[in-house]
Order: sequence, then structure tokens, then C-alpha cells
Amino acid sequence: MLDALLLAVASDHSICGRVRVEHFNNAEKQGRAVARAVLGTLQAYEYIYSFWSDQYEHKLEYVGFARSWERIVLRGSSGSRKFLAFYLTQGILQAVFGLNRGGDPELEADAELRVCQDLIRGRNRLSESALADDRVDLRSLNPAPRS
Ligand SMILES: Cc1cc2nc3c(=O)[nH]c(=O)nc-3n(C[C@H](O)[C@H](O)[C@H](O)COP(=O)(O)OP(=O)(O)OC[C@H]3O[C@@H](n4cnc5c(N)ncnc54)[C@H](O)[C@@H]3O)c2cc1C
Repeated sequence: MLDALLLAVASDHSICGRVRVEHFNNAEKQGRAVARAVLGTLQAYEYIYSFWSDQYEHKLEYVGFARSWERIVLRGSSGSRKFLAFYLTQGILQAVFGLNRGGDPELEADAELRVCQDLIRGRNRLSESALADDRVDLRSLNPAPRS
């Protein structure tokens, strides 16, 4: 039975596709998913992946998963090493990379990268100019908050 449960949480993700994710946040979420399944609650695993990495003075955060993309749109400044990079295919957001910006999507409810998880989950076509414009609140781009 345990084999079946492990296979269940490792199967295709409805948004990110089939991918083996070896990061802390996913390990925690998948553990919870398995525990819920053991207790009788079978749910699709739809967590939008995230991971962080601290590299010397720089903080990297990434949400979603992009194996390929058509466009990368920046919000912020690469020169100041503080920006969000949006990975888009046909206007649909696949993933977002934050360098020294975006907050912690797992711990901060108002973090930009938490909003980005919702944008990825929403699967709406997004305006590149709105994504790039710091005056546009990312929350205004997507009506579907995390449940
Ligand atoms: C150097 C390094 C840096 C990393 N940095 C990051 C990072 O910055 N951000 C990030 O998101 N992820 C990072 N990761 C990945 C992250 O550590 C893993 O994705 C995460 O720890 C996986 O958690 P887990 O519980 O699935 O497995 P593990 O943390 O590997 O835990 C498995 C546990 O099972 C035990 N075990 C194994 N076999 C048996 C057995 N037969 N019987 C009993 N116990 C057993 C092991 O001893 C271990 O304690 C890093 C990994 C490494 C190696």
C-alpha cells in the first residue's frame, strides 16, 4: 500500500507536469499529502513548487516549474540584483525566479512570490507590460487566491 501512495504523490502534476522535485518545501508538502492519504483523504497534489537557495549575500527563490519558455519578463532591476523574472509561454506564467526579492512564498502571506504561485495556478494569459510594471499590484492580475 505504501508503494501505491508514494507513486500517487510522484505522478503527473496538473500544472507542472511530471518532475522529480528535490527541495525542502516539496518534501514537507509531499509528506503531508502521504499522511492525509494514509488517513483516508485522497486529493490531487497541486502544490505549486517552490525552493530557495542562499548564495553568499544573495537570496534566490523560485516558484513553479519551467522546462521551456518563450519569454522572460523582468520586474525590478538586474543591475541592482533585485528583481523578479517571469517565465511565460503564450502569455501563461510557468515559473518565477526572485533574486533578493519576492519574499518567502511559504511563510509570508503577502509575499510577491506567494501571489506568483496563485498566478501560475490561475493559468490566465498575463500582460507582459503589467508584469514588468512595479506600479501594478500582482494581486490585481489574478482573481484566484490560494485555497
Ligand atoms: C548540500 C545540499 C543542499 C541543499 N540545499 C537546499 C536548499 O537550499 N533548498 C532546498 O529547497 N533544498 C535543498 N536541498 C535539498 C533538500 O535537502 C532535500 O530536498 C530534502 O532534505 C528532502 O527531504 P526528505 O525528507 O525527502 O529526505 P531527507 O532529508 O534526505 O531525509 C531522509 C531521511 O531518511 C533517513 N533514511 C534513509 N533511509 C533510511 C532507512 N532505510 N531507514 C531509516 N531511515 C532512513 C535518512 O537518514 C534521512 O534522515 C539540499 C540538499 C543538499 C544535499
